Amino acid sequence: MSRTETDPADQKANKPAPSRTETDPADQKTNKPAPSRTEKADTADVRLCHLYPEQMNIYADRGNIAVFGQRLAWRGLALAVTEVGLGEHVEPGEHDLFYLGGGQDRDQRIVANDLVTKAAALRSAAADGAAFLWVCGGIQLAGVGYTDAAGNRLPGVGLLDLDTEAGDRRLVGDLVIEATLDGRTSEVVGYENHIGRTLLGPAAVPLGRVVHGHGNDGASGHEGAVQQRVIGTYLHGPVLPKNPWFADVVLAWALEHRTGGPVELDELDDSLEIAAHRVAVSRAGVER
Ligand code: GLN
Repeated sequence: MSRTETDPADQKANKPAPSRTETDPADQKTNKPAPSRTEKADTADVRLCHLYPEQMNIYADRGNIAVFGQRLAWRGLALAVTEVGLGEHVEPGEHDLFYLGGGQDRDQRIVANDLVTKAAALRSAAADGAAFLWVCGGIQLAGVGYTDAAGNRLPGVGLLDLDTEAGDRRLVGDLVIEATLDGRTSEVVGYENHIGRTLLGPAAVPLGRVVHGHGNDGASGHEGAVQQRVIGTYLHGPVLPKNPWFADVVLAWALEHRTGGPVELDELDDSLEIAAHRVAVSRAGVER
């Protein structure tokens, strides 16, 4: 059985939170833990399916889930997280957002053969407009396959037209890209650590252009891939806390899947997130 649980960051507000000023004690964006609240998937504003959180959780992937929950909560919206693991079933119509994190080759081997049993359900959800964010090991398994460093061929689920093969050295370090989604281009910063080299086929477009770092293969200048509303990327860290624009594009897609219509998200005060973003970009050595 899969488990549906409340994201700890979920704090659906009954009224808009007060705007943040330096003297405002009711600051909506403090570090205080949000009160926990059980959100049933059938009443949640976004129903997130977190695939293999036990095996595919390298580099704090749960941080990305917390950002989804908190950015919704700040807007008075609720996230329900259903964790789906080995041998468990995915019901395509029951989720608006699918998340798969990174893993070592060893964990990916365990997950890959199980994931293909869910491929038809996942492809049906993608065709129906659900949003996907699949990071690092995730982008590799979203493609047609991954030939790992030991020469094993792992199957992919065919959500993204791309193939991955291990190279002879790891591509590691800060990664800055100019990402284009929904016709808007914005800088996204994170960290990469992968041995896989990913090449895109004609049906997938790169998520972005590498400004600093290696990206998909260290040669093409491409980072990540997008097809329908499926995003694959090597950016982790986790990536979302310091890239609020990126988080909101994915959340808007998920809400549009949920509501069936266009969604305009309320603006948030992202000054802290933008400051963190700038620190990460300057640490990468990118001049402004
Ligand atoms: N095992 C994959 C690689 O090294 C993915 C690594 C990761 O998820 N960080 O290419």
